[in-house]
Amino acid sequence: GGAQAVPQAERGHRPAFDVNAVRRDFPILSERVNGKQLVWLDNAATTHKPRQVIERISHFYEHENSNIHRAAHELAARATDAYEHAREVVRRFINAPDVNEVIFLRGTTEAINLVAKAWGGQHVGEGDEIIVSHLEHHANIVPWQQLAQAKGAKLRVIPVDDQGQVRLDEYQKLINDRTKIVSVAHVSNTLGTVVPVKQIVEIAKRRGITTVIDGAQSIAHTPVDVQDFGADFFVFSGHKIFGPTGIGVLWGRRAVLEDTPPWQGGGNMIADVTFEKTVFQPLPNTFEAGTGNIADAVGLGAALEYVERLGIENISQYEHSLVDYGMAQLGAIPGLRLIGTVPGKASVLSFVLDGYSTDEVGQVLNSEGIAVRTGHHCAQPILRRFGVETAVRPSLAFYNTFGEIDQLVAIIRRLASQRR
Ligand code: PLP
Repeated sequence: GGAQAVPQAERGHRPAFDVNAVRRDFPILSERVNGKQLVWLDNAATTHKPRQVIERISHFYEHENSNIHRAAHELAARATDAYEHAREVVRRFINAPDVNEVIFLRGTTEAINLVAKAWGGQHVGEGDEIIVSHLEHHANIVPWQQLAQAKGAKLRVIPVDDQGQVRLDEYQKLINDRTKIVSVAHVSNTLGTVVPVKQIVEIAKRRGITTVIDGAQSIAHTPVDVQDFGADFFVFSGHKIFGPTGIGVLWGRRAVLEDTPPWQGGGNMIADVTFEKTVFQPLPNTFEAGTGNIADAVGLGAALEYVERLGIENISQYEHSLVDYGMAQLGAIPGLRLIGTVPGKASVLSFVLDGYSTDEVGQVLNSEGIAVRTGHHCAQPILRRFGVETAVRPSLAFYNTFGEIDQLVAIIRRLASQRR
C-alpha cells in the first residue's frame, strides 16, 4: 500500500496535528522515484522544505532582495528587516536571552569550527584538554583534533555504553584541571541517543569549563532551551529543520562571545578601519564578516515558524511513537541487529542485516522508492565501537507515517527471509 494506507488513528497514536495535511505542505513528498511513491527516511542527512519556506525565499528575491545594514534605500530596509526578523525567530525558538547572541553562519560545521578556531585559538594552550564523546559526528571531532594538534593539547573521549548512551561516570573521571572545553552532541546522528546534555554541562560548569552542544540532530526533534541547558554555545544547521542548506546558527552566551576574537575579518563586521587599526562592530556583526546568506536566513526563519505552528512538543511526541513502533517492528526481524537501543531515542533507526551489505539493502530500498542513508554517517568512531564499518540508517521526521514504516519493514523482512 501507499504511504497513507494505514490510518494513524488505528494505531492508537493520534498526533496533535494532521499528518496527511502536513504532508501536502511538502511538494517533494509527492515525487515518484523508480516508478514508486517517494518514502523519505533520510531526514538525519537533510529534511525537506514546506511550501511556506520555498515561497518565503521566492518572496525575498521578488520583493526584498538587497544587501543589508548599509544602504539607505527601501529594499535595503526590507532585506534588513526580513533578516533581523529571522534572527529574532531563532532567538525565540531556542529561548536565547538576547537576539544579538544569535550568529548566522553556514551551518553546524562552520559553527563548531568557529568555536574551535576563534575561542579555542585564544583559550586552549599546551597541555590543556578538550573533551568530546565517542558518538560525535566528524564535525565535532575533527576541528578539536586540529586545535589539539596546533596547540599541543589533548583530545579526550567519553566512552559510550552498549546501548549507546554516553557514560557520565567515565566523564566525571576524565574531567580535570586541564580541561578547557567540553563539546557534545545533543542527539547522535547514528544511534539516535538523546544525550543528557544538561547534566554534562552542569558538571563542567562547576569547574568553570566552557561547553558546546551540537544540536544538528536535536533541533527538529526535541525542544531546545539554551537557558535551561546552561551551555556556552549551541549550534545547528537550517537544512536539518526544514530550512535551506547553507545557513545555520551559532548561539553563544554574550560574555563568552565577547571573550572570543573575531574569526573572519572583512565588511559588515567593522565599525572603523584604518591601515593602523580596526574597530569591530558589536555582536552579532562581529562574527558575520562579508555578505551572508540573507535569503536563506529568511527561509530558516520561515521554517522555524512552521515548526512553531505544529509545536515541537507535539512533533516530539508523535516521532517517539513512530520510533518505538519502528524499533519494535525492525527488532523482530531475524538476523537484524539494531545499533543504538537507548530508550527514548530520537528519529534514527540504524541497523545491519545478516547476509547483506548495507549498500545492498540501500539499493533494494531505493528501487522501491524508499530513501535511507547507508554508509558511515560521518561518525566512524561510534560505528566501530559497535563493531561495524557501515549501517543502514532510516531516520524520521514528523511527516513520516506508520504506513511508511510498514513499507520499510515489509521489504527488510522479505530480504531476511530470502537470505542466502
Ligand atoms: N553534527 C551532527 C550530529 C550531524 O548530524 C551533522 C550533520 O549530519 C553535523 C554535525 C554537520 O552538519 P552540517 O553538515 O549541516 O554542517
